[in-house]
Amino acid sequence: MQIHSSYDAIIVGGGVSGSFMAQELAAAGWRTLVLEAGRSFTRTTYPALEIDSNSQLYWGGGVELNTSASLALLRPKVVGGGSIVNQALMDRFDDIALDSWKQESQVNFFNSEVLSPWYQKAENELSIQKVSEQYRNGNAKIFADGFKANGFICAPLTRAQKDCRFEDGNDCIRCLSGCPIDSKQSTPVTTLKKALKAGCQLISEFEVQKIEDKKDHTLVGGKWKNGGQYLFSARKVILAAGAIGNSRLLLQNDFKKSLPALGEKFYTHPQYMVIAMYDHEINAHKGPLQSYKSQDPHFRAKGFKLENVFAPPVAISMLLPQLGKKHMAKMKEITKMACIEVAVRDTNPGKIKINNQGRPIIEKELNEEDEKRKRAGMDAIHAIFASTGAREVIRGDLGIGLHLMGGCSLGADEKKFVTAPDFTLHGHRRIVIADSSIFPNAPGINPSLTIMALSKMAADQMIKEGL
Ligand SMILES: Cc1cc2nc3c(=O)[nH]c(=O)nc-3n(C[C@H](O)[C@H](O)[C@H](O)COP(=O)(O)OP(=O)(O)OC[C@H]3O[C@@H](n4cnc5c(N)ncnc54)[C@H](O)[C@@H]3O)c2cc1C
Repeated sequence: MQIHSSYDAIIVGGGVSGSFMAQELAAAGWRTLVLEAGRSFTRTTYPALEIDSNSQLYWGGGVELNTSASLALLRPKVVGGGSIVNQALMDRFDDIALDSWKQESQVNFFNSEVLSPWYQKAENELSIQKVSEQYRNGNAKIFADGFKANGFICAPLTRAQKDCRFEDGNDCIRCLSGCPIDSKQSTPVTTLKKALKAGCQLISEFEVQKIEDKKDHTLVGGKWKNGGQYLFSARKVILAAGAIGNSRLLLQNDFKKSLPALGEKFYTHPQYMVIAMYDHEINAHKGPLQSYKSQDPHFRAKGFKLENVFAPPVAISMLLPQLGKKHMAKMKEITKMACIEVAVRDTNPGKIKINNQGRPIIEKELNEEDEKRKRAGMDAIHAIFASTGAREVIRGDLGIGLHLMGGCSLGADEKKFVTAPDFTLHGHRRIVIADSSIFPNAPGINPSLTIMALSKMAADQMIKEGL
């Protein structure tokens, strides 16, 4: 096939990492192209119905499952990637997370002193705010009251948002399908916007299928929405297709032969939502969707965290155990539900494989330690609900994987890791990765801000090295 055009850099995936890398490279004058499999939306075109957003903003029509169907994986497929559908909670990693990364990878820059300026640069791209106390909803109140009653420690959440105008009655639950007022700091209103302004090109609805590393360039090919196949060439290729996307692409193109650890060390922070029924209105869907996180050192030591969260009706309905009329009766009481989730800092690495059609196969289970962490979190949630007058507690047994990490993990040893400490693939110097797929293990903390910081760092190294 003929090469359509050549670029200094091609970025596969226009999500969090892809957008941050694009901004840096385009600003440095690199001829840059972003290829994104998902559609491009604006604040006026994001799907308004939950059911449409599941099918239009995610791979697999909304949800993908692990091989035992015990874990639902939510993998964004849209220009802006996870930044469109996520809750935009921003946290720097603590020493516990960074020390364990350093130990696992033998890479010294995983420490807060080296990463601090990169975190700062990432934070400078966004408006980051604490959710205002004034607008905290009934679900947040139960969370805070229950923490207090049980002697647990919680803290307000920090979110990438600009002006949510809660006084106008805006409900942030809507933002899970894209923010209709551009308050959430998704990359199409932050770094991707700047990248495009600096001359970066973006082709949406283009699924990359081919990566071929040649002597002095790399070929990137795939299928556009019109069904046509296109081939591009680049001096550098940045894989920013997320944990599953990067492993899938490299596996499809036979990189496992030169990268034996490809697809290994896959983590998800499995999350379990616990719903409680109250006799009075909670209205957990109103105003800011989440306001608090657990900040309890005992919880951190035990390997879990709790978050004050809720979900739209289709997702809530999937968590309820009953069927038929009983299920309907329960759903009619949705405004009397409160919800807290436990997120496990998982220790059991999963594996990303592909089947003979190139589809991802995810092998990922909880081991005994992870089960223990989940139980400890659930017990704390029960105590919170019991102390705040819940009449019934319903444990959601389906794990949800929102933080998809690893598969191309970064570390010094090329037999055990895929990405080298300079962010290039071991043995493939023109292919760079700095997204969630390079995580060496599960940090137990929201990943986005660290993906942004590492992407800034990797882009800076690329620019210094030159083409
Ligand atoms: C509902 C939800 C809530 C979340 N809340 C938070 C939160 O509050 N805080 C936080 O820190 N994190 C949160 N996350 C996780 C966070 O969004 C992700 O960790 C982050 O987006 C990962 O960034 P990334 O750059 O690695 O990949 P992504 O942002 O997922 O981007 C990858 C992009 O690559 C594209 N792609 C994949 N394969 C191909 C291909 N072959 N060709 C072309 N394009 C391709 C995808 O379509 C996607 O758009 C949440 C996630 C979800 C789903």
